[in-house]
Amino acid sequence: MSIDRLHRFSFANAPIRGQWVRLSGVLDEFRARQDYPPGVAGLLSEMLAAVAMVSEGIQFDGAVSLQSRSSGPLTTVLAECRQGALLRGIARWPEEAAAPTETQLQDLLGGGQLTITMTRPAARDSDQPFSYQGLIELTGNSLAANLDKYFANSEQLPTHFYFAADDQTSITGLLLQRLPSDDLATDMHLESDDRLWTQIRQQAAQLSLQQLAELEPELFLSQTFAGHTITVHLPRHLRFDCSCSRARSSNTLRSLPREEILSLLEERGSINVTCEICGASYDYQPVDIHMLLDPGSDTIH
Ligand SMILES: [Zn+2]
Repeated sequence: MSIDRLHRFSFANAPIRGQWVRLSGVLDEFRARQDYPPGVAGLLSEMLAAVAMVSEGIQFDGAVSLQSRSSGPLTTVLAECRQGALLRGIARWPEEAAAPTETQLQDLLGGGQLTITMTRPAARDSDQPFSYQGLIELTGNSLAANLDKYFANSEQLPTHFYFAADDQTSITGLLLQRLPSDDLATDMHLESDDRLWTQIRQQAAQLSLQQLAELEPELFLSQTFAGHTITVHLPRHLRFDCSCSRARSSNTLRSLPREEILSLLEERGSINVTCEICGASYDYQPVDIHMLLDPGSDTIH
């Protein structure tokens, strides 16, 4: 069974949404591509767990991404989840600088912001694609606390994120969100919903990050939220997958001035486009470049 997976869970008789996610193989993929220092790897893995949980909650075909706007030594960090299952991400610092050794969020990003973007392709040609962007102010060193504040303000729903790393080999994330009570709920029901949420929050405030990092979701949840009946739903499997393709890199090339492409081709003999996120390499020989620039040129007149 894949280790990288997300389980939705629900509490009996309480309008609370829960997500549990564990990523391990995805982190191996990142390590194989680039050697990130611990602080950078830790932040990127928390961001990946976060986008996986947020995209599951929204349940759409599109993408959820978190990207930094930084004035700190880590100039860019990006985590993206597409179709609720396909993860990619990257962290960057200036080429001339040494890899950042900072371990705190504020030191890495200079107290900047994260942009959260949610996009969905148009379902029909007549529809507009959906895109939403929000800004998450980074006011503390905990990504979880910054996300809690953002979701409480933007969605008006009390939300709590938790992240626990296990020696950088895996990251486990937990999300708890209080959903609105049923419109037709009686006062008694509303009171009961509030009481359950207060209880569950108190239990969550005591949770063991070590247990979150190590235990399977069923055991972790039953120990942490003792006294509640919790249903852990079937997992959604997650994996590293970049959205780059030869067609996309061809579009990028086509958007460059023709003279620039031709002089590059003359200088190098062929053109190689490398995806900076996954390292995939797309090679263009002179014949490919001429086809790109003059798609009709191979037809016989
Ligand atoms: Zn790629």
